[in-house]
Amino acid sequence: MHDKTLTELAAGLRAGEFSSVELTRAYLERIEQFDTDLNCFISVARERALASAERADARIRDGSADALTGIPIAHKDIFCTSGLRTSCGSKMLDNFVAPYDATVVARLEAAGTVMLGKTNMDEFAMGSSNETSFYGVVRNPWDRTLVPGGSSGGSAAAVAARLCGAATGTDTGGSIRQPAALCGITGLKPTYGRVSRYGMIAFASSLDQGGPLTRSAADAALMLQAMAGFDPRDSTSAQQAVPDYSGQLDADLRGLKIGLPREYFESGLDAEVAASVQAAIAEYRHMGAEVVDISLPNSGLSVATYYVVAPAECSSNLSRFDGVRFGHRCEQPKNLEDLYKRSRSEGFGAEVKRRIMIGTYALSAGYYDAYYLKAQQIRQLISEDFRKAFGQVDVIMGPTSPTTAFAIGEKADDPVTMYLSDIYTIAANLAGLPGMSIPVRPVAGRPVGLQIIGNYFQEGKLLNVAHRLQRESDWHLAAPVGF
Ligand code: GLN
Repeated sequence: MHDKTLTELAAGLRAGEFSSVELTRAYLERIEQFDTDLNCFISVARERALASAERADARIRDGSADALTGIPIAHKDIFCTSGLRTSCGSKMLDNFVAPYDATVVARLEAAGTVMLGKTNMDEFAMGSSNETSFYGVVRNPWDRTLVPGGSSGGSAAAVAARLCGAATGTDTGGSIRQPAALCGITGLKPTYGRVSRYGMIAFASSLDQGGPLTRSAADAALMLQAMAGFDPRDSTSAQQAVPDYSGQLDADLRGLKIGLPREYFESGLDAEVAASVQAAIAEYRHMGAEVVDISLPNSGLSVATYYVVAPAECSSNLSRFDGVRFGHRCEQPKNLEDLYKRSRSEGFGAEVKRRIMIGTYALSAGYYDAYYLKAQQIRQLISEDFRKAFGQVDVIMGPTSPTTAFAIGEKADDPVTMYLSDIYTIAANLAGLPGMSIPVRPVAGRPVGLQIIGNYFQEGKLLNVAHRLQRESDWHLAAPVGF
């Protein structure tokens, strides 16, 4: 049962081959069996899941079920869930139980999905390896000595290990696409504004975007359908109708123009990863697509730009965690100043503190113009590069990450090397564009991701392009040994 894609599970539920309660129990058993070791989950909501599976079964029986009704999924622990702890991977929120559901959670709930629990993540979504979580590192199911990527590492590893049908994640600089690549699954970061950020704990508000982590593009289409759409409670949410994503999956690709940015294939990219990405692009040629050489001249500036903009926004967003209103509070503060200082020093981990300090510095008087304003100007140039490119091509392809999964501990003490993991993903966030990662030919048993970037609100096109490759190949169906 657990090896079926979400699309197959939905069909099985509707045909009465198994019930949602049976399916939920099967996943809960797998979580018990494997997760002590993998550490994908921060919280498992056993009783709640079984109760919602019973309600889903009733809906299936009385004919009021939607496409996802009865499907067990997991939410990244950054999405608020009423009555169930939302930690954001931090000691700061170890005791935080939100009084409301994030819009993404509420919508998936209304669609009838069953929430199995909350997944592990880098603290406040800052990281590329899931090593900054207060709840410990997540292990990559393909090889437990390797990181799963981050920051949605718990969600990616859980989907890869078949511990849930699908999962949600968030992507500020690559946190859906990079862990999807490193764990051999499909991940989609929608256009900024496509999915509501209401109840999604903010890291860098102008970059954050929620999206699905799934086994296939067809599964991602089903998840996005339920997640996307205007939300009056998020002022940056787009007032655009949500198209029928599943209906676009099979469209023919003849004449599709694929842009290959030369900057994405230069030094720094592992040669075998490059070969694997090129082999997938050759498949698209066979399907009748045309490959065009393009240039994104400012892409070399994206990591530096991001590491001014994202810390600046996080320093502001994280100022609310002060030990007064909610979250961790130090013992016996001497005065208000001491309360702030010690609550924050004790509650936040090293990477979060590093970012708050960089951001506070970059926004301070005298440095604002030199750093923050400059970064915003370069961000504009990066968006311009894409605007020009999309005048020429329909989608842009390249690697998701410069390497396959690396060893736990390998980059943990070297933040700058770690930051380079997102060299190909960050630009899409800076420009607000949708991006996807799908598994292609692995290198030495380690998954590799092909990244597909589209123009604004072209999620349907991305899913179509991804699905057509998944019709012709079975890389996305491969399971890690033992799962
Ligand atoms: N790895 C990047 C960072 O550490 C991106 C994280 C994310 O997308 N949430 O900020």
